[in-house]
Amino acid sequence: LEARLPGVAPDAAPASVAILGAGIAGASLARAFADLGLRSTVIEADRPGAGASGFAAALVTPRLDAGDRSIAALYASALERAATLYAAAPDAVLSKGVLQLEQAPRDAGRHAKVAAQDVWPEGAMTVLDADACTARLAEPVETGGLLMRDAMAVRPAAVLKAWLAEADRIQATVVRLERGDGRWRLFDAAGVLVMEAEGVVLAAGWGAAALMGEPVLSPVAGQADVVEGVEGGPVAWGGYAVPTGQGLLYGATHDRGVTDPVSSEAASARNLATVAPRLPELATRIAAAGGPTVSRTAVRATTPDRLPLAGALGDGLYVLGGMGSRGFCASPLLAEHVAAMVMGTPSPLGRDLAARVSPARFTA
Ligand SMILES: Cc1cc2nc3c(=O)[nH]c(=O)nc-3n(C[C@H](O)[C@H](O)[C@H](O)COP(=O)(O)OP(=O)(O)OC[C@H]3O[C@@H](n4cnc5c(N)ncnc54)[C@H](O)[C@@H]3O)c2cc1C
Repeated sequence: LEARLPGVAPDAAPASVAILGAGIAGASLARAFADLGLRSTVIEADRPGAGASGFAAALVTPRLDAGDRSIAALYASALERAATLYAAAPDAVLSKGVLQLEQAPRDAGRHAKVAAQDVWPEGAMTVLDADACTARLAEPVETGGLLMRDAMAVRPAAVLKAWLAEADRIQATVVRLERGDGRWRLFDAAGVLVMEAEGVVLAAGWGAAALMGEPVLSPVAGQADVVEGVEGGPVAWGGYAVPTGQGLLYGATHDRGVTDPVSSEAASARNLATVAPRLPELATRIAAAGGPTVSRTAVRATTPDRLPLAGALGDGLYVLGGMGSRGFCASPLLAEHVAAMVMGTPSPLGRDLAARVSPARFTA
């Protein structure tokens, strides 16, 4: 085994890396490359958080899988890494501990199985009965839930600010990538060369679909609403309610196949209707406060197996995306995996987990 100093890239590592997209995936990559001793360049079409990573708050919650141990292990590792890194980012953590309420009768058994999985640190997952959920939420609920101690709510803007500071930045929309002489050339719609780089990582959320050329990603548009001056959460069921610091973010809608969503009062009504049956007192407080002051939409990029894409697409070309609804949990660890692949350093993922997220499972 080759001995390497931490933070020192091996000779074969690229001298220049372009990251397309300044959402949580791109920001996580900027941080991960900096950790490996490389200052990358993030190319963003609009502004940081312009896509799905720009809501006022985000839940950092793992995908719960009672049946597939390796998926559970992947998300347990991702949550542990994300929680550590968010705790170190100034002003990023809004609240620790997230309650996942039972949504269907089978969830009680499913939550018990999840809590018993050996992938979680001691005491990280606790099944609560209806009384304990009622006490935690300060309103009567009729079901139990799973208290995820290490899950959290974060302020995306604070995370993006801290981590994107570790990269150079270019504002441009890349529409074409060309390979030649061991380098990638990135062009905008006018045919202007935006940048040349030895390594490129597509971290453009739903925008990566057009650049990948393979029909792997599917769009699921969504709207979330913010009401000022109302406290609650963080709690999730089919919907979610997350404190923002000044108010509450709640929702969200899921509209498959929609790529160009516009926020609407109809979607706000659907979001309130998601809250009302599970947390009627919270829904009443939202309505009494005058309803949402901010409604925002974005497009989630999803994959057929609902696992992210993290790995190589071709020579010097990589992807970190397909985050679905869990980008804030999965991105920090998977960015370290992709950065390690690019730089030729050891990955934090084992071979099995790397295969589960590899784009080759769809493109090979
Ligand atoms: C309503 C809603 C609520 C959500 N809530 C949560 C939550 O609580 N927790 C959670 O983990 N996830 C949540 N998600 C999902 C989460 O937002 C995504 O998983 C995550 O933001 C994806 O991050 P990303 O960096 O891959 O993509 P994005 O955040 O979409 O970033 C992609 C960036 O790339 C840029 N870009 C696109 N194309 C190009 C191009 N050609 N050239 C240059 N730049 C380009 C875009 O402008 C954008 O800034 C939610 C999603 C929605 C819609």
